Amino acid sequence: MNTKIWLSSPHMGGTEQKYVQEAFDTNWVSPLGTNVNGFEEDLEKYVGSNSHVACLSSGTSALHLALILADVQQDDKVICQSMTFSASANPIVYQKAAPIFIDSEKETWNMCPVHLEAAIKDCITKGKKPKAIVVVHLYGMPAKMKEIAAIAATYDITLIEDAAEAIGSTYKGQKCGAFGAFGIFSFNGNKIITTSSGGALVCKTAASKQRAIYLATQARDNAAHYQHSEIGYNYRMSNIVAGIGRGQMEVLDKHIGYRRKNNQFYQALFKDVAGITVFKEPTSAFFSNHWLSAIVIDEQITGFSREELRLSLEKANIESRPLWKPMHLQPVFKDCSYFGATVSEDLFQSGLCLPSGSNLTTYDLDRIKEAINNFL
Ligand SMILES: *Cc1c(COP(=O)(O)O)cnc(C)c1O
Repeated sequence: MNTKIWLSSPHMGGTEQKYVQEAFDTNWVSPLGTNVNGFEEDLEKYVGSNSHVACLSSGTSALHLALILADVQQDDKVICQSMTFSASANPIVYQKAAPIFIDSEKETWNMCPVHLEAAIKDCITKGKKPKAIVVVHLYGMPAKMKEIAAIAATYDITLIEDAAEAIGSTYKGQKCGAFGAFGIFSFNGNKIITTSSGGALVCKTAASKQRAIYLATQARDNAAHYQHSEIGYNYRMSNIVAGIGRGQMEVLDKHIGYRRKNNQFYQALFKDVAGITVFKEPTSAFFSNHWLSAIVIDEQITGFSREELRLSLEKANIESRPLWKPMHLQPVFKDCSYFGATVSEDLFQSGLCLPSGSNLTTYDLDRIKEAINNFL
């Protein structure tokens, strides 16, 4: 049997262990040290736009702190893109706030600005303006940030960007994660760069960053003894993990190049296949890191479903995966409000993510091509 081809697996650049070794050599085996500071500086430089970055234990903890910094409290309303991974929405519930889910638009598969504005107006009519908007850049594709940022500004609502999948993606030349009051990245095992697990919060001010770090380290007051005036969290990144991150930063742009090449590979592979479209940027204003390449299958034309293709690839030991199941269709969120039509639901029914790792070899790509052609 051939070895398994994964959707997206960790891809080390080679210098990660040097930074980890340094942490051991200096005995900074703790949630602080030169790697944490160094990784934060690397990310600040990379994201630009005067960003201030706090490295944390996960993307989820970064979103949680973003909501706290946005003053989201019990019974508040928070608007969230429906088509996403559950981690975008769970922290809203940690705060005992109510998520309101928004459908996608067809071009970027991200939050539809029209339904977003309708939801805000509805909340205002009912007497409570939403506290925050969580927009996602799915699979690395930037959302329509011009429209969404304008709506957030008009109604004066804090904009939080879930850029967990979109480090290195840009919209009109600006990096994803740098548009909102807060942005988050994930460095989980299958993300574009990985530190095994980890995340980061991008803030607009040094004061927000300091407050995030304070909350992430159990909210200790400035005293020699342990004194606390607020509830805190244990959300800081370890200095070992940050060492992996520093090494990964050295290869980030190169790896994005490989992922974009994978997307071109699929564009070519499906060019003449009626009923299959490969997801790509709608205009040159959008630059996707193509974390995952995905296709949409029009079953009426192809005569087969995404599930049939998925199972056929599985037989060839090739991993593929349906698109994210929208949050408004998840049992756990069934009582939440929803604004939109069936764009995200249709994408979920017909879409499939294909192997997209930056470490796919020519041999892997040949196997994928053969398996798909055999199926077709
Ligand atoms: C991975 C991911 C997260 C969560 O990041 P973790 O580091 O796994 O906590 C949040 N949102 C989206 C869209 C993701 O893909």
